[in-house]
Amino acid sequence: MQKFGKGRAAGGGKTLVESAYGASQHLNYHAHRNTMKYYGIEVLGFYCPYPRYCYPLVSSGGEFQMFCRPISKNCGSSLACHMEDLIPLCDLLFLGDLCVRLDTEAWRFYHIYSEADMNESKVFFTDMRTRFDEGLLVKMERLIQKAGIDQIDFKQKYVAIKIHFGEPGNLAFLRPNFAKVVADKIKSLGGMPFLTDCNTLYVGRRNQGLNHLDAAAENGYTPLSTGCQNIIADGIRGADDIDVPVKGGKYCKVAHIGRAIMDADIVVSLNHFKGHEGSGFGGALKNIGMGSGSRAGKMAVHNDGKPNIDKNICIGCKICARFCAHGAIAFNGGKASIDESKCAGCGRCIGACSKNAIFTNWDSSNEALCCKIVEYTKAVLDGRPHFHINVVNQVSPYCDCHAESDAAVIPDIGIFAGFDPVALDKACIDAVNAAPAIQSSILSERDRSRRDASGNEDYFTNIHPTTDWRKQISYAEEIGLGSGKYELVTVK
Ligand code: SF4
Ligand code: SF4
Repeated sequence: MQKFGKGRAAGGGKTLVESAYGASQHLNYHAHRNTMKYYGIEVLGFYCPYPRYCYPLVSSGGEFQMFCRPISKNCGSSLACHMEDLIPLCDLLFLGDLCVRLDTEAWRFYHIYSEADMNESKVFFTDMRTRFDEGLLVKMERLIQKAGIDQIDFKQKYVAIKIHFGEPGNLAFLRPNFAKVVADKIKSLGGMPFLTDCNTLYVGRRNQGLNHLDAAAENGYTPLSTGCQNIIADGIRGADDIDVPVKGGKYCKVAHIGRAIMDADIVVSLNHFKGHEGSGFGGALKNIGMGSGSRAGKMAVHNDGKPNIDKNICIGCKICARFCAHGAIAFNGGKASIDESKCAGCGRCIGACSKNAIFTNWDSSNEALCCKIVEYTKAVLDGRPHFHINVVNQVSPYCDCHAESDAAVIPDIGIFAGFDPVALDKACIDAVNAAPAIQSSILSERDRSRRDASGNEDYFTNIHPTTDWRKQISYAEEIGLGSGKYELVTVK
């Protein structure tokens, strides 16, 4: 057994660790909690595949000793720990030039990161070119393999593949063929994948569980085409959710997340990268953060407010009142009305009304919307292995929630994959802005003067001038979701 390190837990102020790596490689981690949040610490997160090799971490009076020995090719310096001993001390440990993040759920731990790892996340990319003997789906499988998806221990684990099935009428959403590649890969690694999304707030074909499943099937998502089941994560009426704490959240203390997504052991997001009218762009952060919110979650993300009732549509059936646990719905003159002093903003009445008479106000500021999306994403991903894939094709100006899809604004670029959703989205933003514009698209109607930091045209803010995509990236870095810095690795 190799003695790896001894010192005080890195929980308060300056900490000294005698590292097996020698004094010259010690980190100055006196401000580690503020610094760590920029490091993308979950980039390589995975479960320990060899728990039988674990050795206990011994703690007393704030001192700890940690022992380890190399136990796998993926985890050359793996640490072993007894969570019961560790939780009272800290959730971040620094050992020489290494940093470990320990999950608060027993017997999980995360991989070790060097400082270099933490500054820059790897994003893997393959373009859209194909050969006669090799199609894009084969390239996609190779891409996610090279990106390291097999570092996650999928064996006997439920895997939520977060996807957007596409509003019927939209033609830019991802083809189910892409989902099949991901589901097949997960199954080959021993996992139990399912495709999932939550119901929408707005009136459409995906605002309740049953029509959502119909819409998915209509768009080609069936177990036959993808090799796995579709599950609407927040149930038939969008009310089946779990309140998940948002660690470090400024806007949301808890996030209301669809239950099936939280029931999964692992989250993989498969995202169509495009523009978005509310957040500037829609990629991994938007798909996870907005899409995983139940009806109450989406209400909190959009407006922090209470729904309204259109009395011209209401027929006074009183079904909504049955679903209101707060007694907030009253009837005057045969029409429903909401008492805001009693309303908790749960959104359950919206799903209950088959007449679509209940609606929410979309009044969240763009900045608050972006930050809440990021906080919801963090709530979904914290403490679980996760992996992300962005397909940058048919880059339409608007979300796939629209029942139409306007012409693409740039040519198709390719597929990106990695463990860090922030780096992934930033790499896609840069790639899109570096691409030539399709002049016949909506861009022909826009002021094209805005530029990004590289001097390229900033298509996202030129198309949606009231949005600022930068806020998603900067706030995600600020709360430790990942890093906006990335190294792009091309996979042929
Ligand atoms: S469920 Fe809809 S239609 Fe029925 S009373 Fe409530 S708001 Fe009116
Ligand atoms: S949002 Fe929730 S609390 Fe408010 S009226 Fe509707 S069901 Fe009742």
